[in-house]
Amino acid sequence: METWVVTGGAGFIGATVVRKVLATTPHRVVVLDALTYAGHRENLEDVAKDPRYTFVHGDIADRETVERVYREHAPSAVLHLAAETHVDRSIDGPRAFIRTNVHGTLELLEGARAHVARLPKPEAERFRFLAVSTDEVFGSLGPTGKFSETSPYDPRSPYSASKAASDHLVSAYHETYRLPTILTNCSNNYGPFQFPEKLIPLALLNACEGKPIPLYGDGSNVRDWIHVEDHAEGILAALARGRPGERYGFGGDAERTNRQVLEALCDALEALRPAAGSPAMSSRGVQRYRDLVTLVADRPGHDRRYAMDASKAKRELGWAPRHDFAAGIRSTVAWYLEHAAWCAAVLKSGSARDRRGVLAANEPTTKRETR
Ligand code: NAD
Repeated sequence: METWVVTGGAGFIGATVVRKVLATTPHRVVVLDALTYAGHRENLEDVAKDPRYTFVHGDIADRETVERVYREHAPSAVLHLAAETHVDRSIDGPRAFIRTNVHGTLELLEGARAHVARLPKPEAERFRFLAVSTDEVFGSLGPTGKFSETSPYDPRSPYSASKAASDHLVSAYHETYRLPTILTNCSNNYGPFQFPEKLIPLALLNACEGKPIPLYGDGSNVRDWIHVEDHAEGILAALARGRPGERYGFGGDAERTNRQVLEALCDALEALRPAAGSPAMSSRGVQRYRDLVTLVADRPGHDRRYAMDASKAKRELGWAPRHDFAAGIRSTVAWYLEHAAWCAAVLKSGSARDRRGVLAANEPTTKRETR
């Protein structure tokens, strides 16, 4: 039995990975998570009693905490998902992003380097450091083409810049210290347990309350959507079969404009809980959830289009996304409707759904060209 450390395991994707590891392997899992506004023990309630699961409340940017975790748990793998992840928050306050996403990755890599040096040769050879990243590090695409593992870096938000720095550190530790690292870059995730500040859960909760559903800019920005279960399976495939020093891109083969995503979501909600007859809707004189979609000021520097070519992961890891987007959205909507108590628990602070990342009128923005 091995021990795997999952950083950010109390977040959306991390918790999905933790559940999958415990369900499909005999290994122990140690979650290292600072429980920021985005991390919640509730996300891991169903595994809390598993004797193979340990939770460590700690900050990845704190050297002593990281060193203690390596020494006490002697992991054979680190799955690094802890991060500040919301682009809009990175526009308002980039410092937290640099601290966690850059400094935090550095401390984990330094800890891994010292840990591997202490291990006997066979264990040192088995050790893997897998870092989970985003396709946003590659910038913004024009109407055609996709990102691949060899696309040049071109981050455009403080969030993607901090993830790009993290990726570069991971690659550098492989080149410089021969640390057996694996990098993954994935497109936009959706599914259960996503914190309701991101597009899909935020829109859904607003719709349920009859509140306007914000759509940034003209609604035509395109993302490639992947179900979080498919991403988690890709991460585990990369850990099992990926080659050290390599990177793998994951995508869902489901490009949609933000407007199409919201319309699919409204239609799925309409089928499960028709708007007509709902008191929240009739008090606003609204007949259909789609009518709540409201254009709002765009995000500064909003990337036009992302899409990831996942053919390397399909070919080398034997991985492929299993979820169809329409069915995945329907099951996600159903999950949120059935988990109102979870939503209330994670939204305790109440401010998560406030608009962020809007610069004041006199603040400079850079006009960006898209490739
Ligand atoms: P999330 O915001 O839901 O969760 C992040 C987790 O990290 C939380 O549990 C939080 O408490 C923890 N955390 C934050 N700062 C920490 C610190 N200093 N020390 C320890 N823990 C800390 O994020 P997510 O959507 O689950 O994303 C997980 C990873 O996947 C991130 O690295 C993100 O960049 C990457 N990613 C996300 C997406 C997506 O669509 N959500 C797509 C591609 C890649």
